[in-house]
Amino acid sequence: MERSLAIIGAGLSGLIACKYVVEKGFTPVVFEAKEGVGGVWNHTAETTKLQNDKESYQFSDFPWPPSVNEVMYPSHNQVLEYIQSYAQHFDLLPYIKFNSKVLDLDYVNGESHEEMEAWDLWGGTGEPFNSNGKWHIMVQNTKSSSREIFQFEFVILCIGRFSEVPNIPEFPPNQGPEVFNGKVLHSMDYSAMDDEGAKELVRRKRIIVIGSMKSAVDIAAECSNVNGLEYPCTMIQRTVHWMLPSANLWGGVKLSYLYFTRFAELLVHKPGETFLLSILATLLSPLRWAISKFAESYLRWKLPLKKFDMVPNISFHQDISSCQIAMLPEKFYEKVEEGSIILKKSQNLSFCKEGLIINGETQPLETDIVILATGYKGDKKLRSMFKSPIFQKHIVGPPTSTVPLYRQVIHPRIPQLAIIGYAEDFSNLLASELRCQWLTHFLSRQLQLPSISNMERDVKMWENNMKLYGGNYFWKSCIGVFNICNIAKFLDSKCSNIGEKSSHCRSRNKWPCSLQVHQFEFMILCIVRFSGVPNIPEFPPNQGPEVFNGKVMHSMDYSAMDNGMAAKLITEKRVAIIGSQKSAVDIAAECANANGK
Ligand SMILES: Cc1cc2nc3c(=O)[nH]c(=O)nc-3n(C[C@H](O)[C@H](O)[C@H](O)COP(=O)(O)OP(=O)(O)OC[C@H]3O[C@@H](n4cnc5c(N)ncnc54)[C@H](O)[C@@H]3O)c2cc1C
Repeated sequence: MERSLAIIGAGLSGLIACKYVVEKGFTPVVFEAKEGVGGVWNHTAETTKLQNDKESYQFSDFPWPPSVNEVMYPSHNQVLEYIQSYAQHFDLLPYIKFNSKVLDLDYVNGESHEEMEAWDLWGGTGEPFNSNGKWHIMVQNTKSSSREIFQFEFVILCIGRFSEVPNIPEFPPNQGPEVFNGKVLHSMDYSAMDDEGAKELVRRKRIIVIGSMKSAVDIAAECSNVNGLEYPCTMIQRTVHWMLPSANLWGGVKLSYLYFTRFAELLVHKPGETFLLSILATLLSPLRWAISKFAESYLRWKLPLKKFDMVPNISFHQDISSCQIAMLPEKFYEKVEEGSIILKKSQNLSFCKEGLIINGETQPLETDIVILATGYKGDKKLRSMFKSPIFQKHIVGPPTSTVPLYRQVIHPRIPQLAIIGYAEDFSNLLASELRCQWLTHFLSRQLQLPSISNMERDVKMWENNMKLYGGNYFWKSCIGVFNICNIAKFLDSKCSNIGEKSSHCRSRNKWPCSLQVHQFEFMILCIVRFSGVPNIPEFPPNQGPEVFNGKVMHSMDYSAMDNGMAAKLITEKRVAIIGSQKSAVDIAAECANANGK
């Protein structure tokens, strides 16, 4: 019986989820509030570019088009087009219901919350599906405002965390935006404007941007492009973070080589690793420190940070472990040097009629427009999706902890539901892809979940690990310290606690590796040799596979199947295997296991 499955959101994560579940034989329904795919990439500031180099933000099975060959950091339009063409290439559009906003999700299974709280296993059985439990999804058509309730057995939430619910700082009475004569808007509203509209808004206006991350620097640079020295843009930051002019450091050393390789992975402790690796991480900690200093020294040399009092108090390693580094827009510090961007630090600020008062100064900073580039409340948005107050409480957890997701995908106490795209990483594309692969292995029962209490313990261990490296700057949703290699390895390592019976552990499909290939050129050699282009022997005319009534396949296609399909294919069949190497003997052994004598 086909299981019903809904995906909410057709941004990057929702599309990847859709592609992978379709491959596993599901027919999902994807609810998307907007008219098109691509999520956040539909609305960014004009100058926003990809912050990763394009190789690290590339689908494992769909490369960037040749037209983007020359570019290291594609523009936001190029990223959007790339995501759109992924949806077209894998024929995902027919699964999507556009203009369909999910208002809430209600889990109905006939059990009381007390009974559900007493479960030992996820959803009571540890299985992805439970015949008694269904999600009731309230969907609003954004054109007609009509509402309809749909029922699904499994939900994948891919609603993103950088939209819709802005993080607006709180101010004491009479010190907030209400007393200001000018205009206050969030970066979300600025990004939603078309490029010309945004330029018109800031033209010949005194602008203050509050914030220190990517949106803040991008918007400040755009204001400076429009107004130059005549109306300088002031950028106010509470905490200064390390910002990079490019992803290369001293002598062209790529940042990704220092932080996102198998070697870099040895420098950090990870829960569940062997004693030897943990000793190694301790022994290598001076090297971790040295790498951090190497990056800091380059940035201090390259950028006039000292001159403008913009040297961060936090180490580069802590910043990157908390996902708090960002790429500067082009010529940012040239604009600061010429005076069209003014940088200020302030621990506290309040509004007055004329503008802002910072650092308790008596003279206000007079301005016409204040743009709050203060981020989003992704956890509030996530919470609002659930109708049940108990699930609302479970999903977000206390303010000082992470959103408690096992493998950053599954909440131990919310059944038949997965979340993709909440956690932030160095490359969110690779992270979402990896998680979708893990999830679809679970959905097709190729791996089993531990008990709820073990999952909760695991979540806590990883959270403590994140706090260890992020320190005071630990950022709830950041898994940067684990980086892609770590995730892949740590997913691999799950085999040890999934148990021998899990077919995932001896999966033919080497799924995590396909993701690492993008980051480490040397690994490409490993796949070029044994995958992609099979060696098919040549036969004279009328003596090749075309004259044979049975089925002929290469070991590559056999290995690409999941275990169940492969077993079904060979069971009770006469199989001939041509070859004398590893694949041949392995497949012969599997045929013998399946068919005996
Ligand atoms: C300015 C900016 C720059 C970035 N740069 C990078 C970068 O360089 N590298 C990187 O790795 N990451 C970057 N990111 C992070 C980026 O968010 C991810 O890379 C990725 O695009 C997130 O995809 P997503 O599908 O998880 O979320 P989103 O892109 O937010 O998509 C969520 C989708 O869900 C839909 N949706 C939401 N709520 C509902 C609902 N209730 N019902 C129906 N549909 C709903 C939305 O309409 C949207 O289409 C950047 C983010 C921003 C904002």
